[in-house]
Amino acid sequence: MQMGVSFCRGMLLWARDGFRLATSPVYKERASICAQCHLWQSKARLGLGKCGHTACGCTKAKLKVASQACPLGKWAALQPSGSVSARPLPTP
Ligand code: SF4
Repeated sequence: MQMGVSFCRGMLLWARDGFRLATSPVYKERASICAQCHLWQSKARLGLGKCGHTACGCTKAKLKVASQACPLGKWAALQPSGSVSARPLPTP
């Protein structure tokens, strides 16, 4: 249920953002961060992988959506200007 709500919120946010996609370098950076995260489950969803955070559960497809952000603040949403949001990153 939580995942469905999260998905619907994400789609609504993406529509409001004009369905912008992250650039290839941003996607690769996000994927690299997720690959090193303890919550990333690389073999889930038929090998597509998924985030194990209860507020997320998304596959790599989320990484392509510009308006999306990591629930732990490890990577941020892109602002319309192309810059990243001012969302603070967690301390290591
Ligand atoms: S979205 Fe964030 S919490 Fe989820 S796997 Fe990626 S880095 Fe980890």
